[in-house]
Amino acid sequence: MPTENRMENIVALAKRRGFVFQSSEIYGGLNGFWDYGPLGVELKRNVRQAWWADMITEHDEISTPAGAPCSFDMVGVETSIIMHPQVWKVSGHYDLFADKLVDCRETKARFRADHLTCYSVVVPSTTGEAPTRIGYVAAVGTTDDFAEQLGKSFLKRMQTAFARDKAEVQIGDQQPFLALPVPERATVWNPEAKAVGTLTDPRDFNLMFETFTGALQSDENKAFLRPETAQGMFVNFKNVCDSSRVKLPFGVAQIGKSFRNEITPRNFTFRSREFEQMEMEFFCHPSQSLQWYQYWRDRRYNWYMQLGIAKENLILREHAQEELAHYSVGTADLEYAFPFLEAGQYGELEGVAHRGDFDLRSHSEGKLCKENGQLVVEKGPDGKAKYQGSGKDLSYFDDQTRERFVPHVIEPAAGCDRATLAFLCEAYHEDQAPDDKGEMQTRLVLKLHPKLAPVKVAVFPLIKKDGMPEKAAAIYREFKQAGIAVAYDQQAAIGRRYRRMDEIGTPFCVTVDGDTLTADTVTVRDRDTLKQDRVSVKELVDHVRSRLRG
Ligand code: ATP
Repeated sequence: MPTENRMENIVALAKRRGFVFQSSEIYGGLNGFWDYGPLGVELKRNVRQAWWADMITEHDEISTPAGAPCSFDMVGVETSIIMHPQVWKVSGHYDLFADKLVDCRETKARFRADHLTCYSVVVPSTTGEAPTRIGYVAAVGTTDDFAEQLGKSFLKRMQTAFARDKAEVQIGDQQPFLALPVPERATVWNPEAKAVGTLTDPRDFNLMFETFTGALQSDENKAFLRPETAQGMFVNFKNVCDSSRVKLPFGVAQIGKSFRNEITPRNFTFRSREFEQMEMEFFCHPSQSLQWYQYWRDRRYNWYMQLGIAKENLILREHAQEELAHYSVGTADLEYAFPFLEAGQYGELEGVAHRGDFDLRSHSEGKLCKENGQLVVEKGPDGKAKYQGSGKDLSYFDDQTRERFVPHVIEPAAGCDRATLAFLCEAYHEDQAPDDKGEMQTRLVLKLHPKLAPVKVAVFPLIKKDGMPEKAAAIYREFKQAGIAVAYDQQAAIGRRYRRMDEIGTPFCVTVDGDTLTADTVTVRDRDTLKQDRVSVKELVDHVRSRLRG
């Protein structure tokens, strides 16, 4: 199926079956905000639950997991969305959490500068000399066959715009927008605009949403909606150490909403302005931090595959040295081949970063910056710390080795909505299956991992008489009591009911038929293999439970 149709079909299914709706849809929607419907809320809750179980509830703190240097503790927190504004000054978000923004004065379109690529517009030489550059065309993306895609009519418009008889787009000499020399910016053309030179210079745009605490909307009362959950763990490092029995190394995890006023929210829930993060800060001794970085990077990669992401759709991309934040010694992104991307391209699901001691030291001493290869407190014009830290001692004392030090931090930071979207995209299949008359029909099926499926089992009476609905209702209630998400459906032909369950990813369908009434057995149909087994009603709940575990 072509990639673009695939994404459209997934979005359509998400709406039709109640996974995801546009926020405030009846008022025309609000760009960058999404609502989860009855099935979406369950799917997302299961993603959250799988992450929390892996990090906290199923974590065994006595034994050493494979690949880890030693055993470790894991605890959770839930911190507030609005924090002391100093948190964001010290963390660097206040100064640095900005994207470069470019506006088109004519079309009012807005672009992230790093999403634009400028292609040279040149007049080719007839005498073999170098072509003359007469301007630039800005386009979103980095497609090599840009000119071909835009076609001849585009070239005509461009010639008119640049008032030349002959002009070509020079692809070989691509330059990132920000690298353009100043005088030439005026000639940059947005292909959607009629006039040339309508794009503004790139300017900073802070992504943090502002609000006010208390009655007065003054500067002193200004606060921010958190753009990440991580700072909640750093500022509570001492509280967690003092109030629980954790010993280094240990992790503190949190799941919660974050907000970023993204310039160009796009690609369904992939880039939203309100989203949920699943972040964990792992505090360890500096001498072991590289080993822990590798451990968490690999473990997080495997988590996605254990929940059904195919290896060929997932990559682990180590950042090049120049991509790293100034405090980081290593960062890797886990990226997924989302269907809205071109073949061979991947979108970030999660970043795993080695943050060194940057955060704890900054919150203690004042915002740090790098000078001559060292992290030092950044000074303001008066020679004092530009942004004061808390002044609290955020070091750790190891009572075994009698050593005091500031722990290093490894941070796996995942997006819950992006993970949910990736699982949804991965699960989406169209295959062939027989209908009620045995004829092969196209079947739309979500092959969700059983742990993630919103409904685990559906119960159907084959017909609406002969005591079948009563028997099916009793079985339905047994599943309810066992805490297994169950649906009941007695409407329409059995094939239609199977299809409805396939479409929402229900792994098993139980059908009560004539034999149930005489032999106390039912059929259990497997969503993926379509195989039907006869199972005794007495063993049914245990049977389904064990198959759900896989
Ligand atoms: P991007 O480069 O895509 O903007 P990022 O590197 O800024 O992402 P992080 O700050 O590392 O993202 O946040 C951790 C995770 O939070 C991301 O990997 C992603 O899954 C999720 N996330 C970040 N921004 C958004 C957003 N606008 N919408 C949905 N999820 C997001």
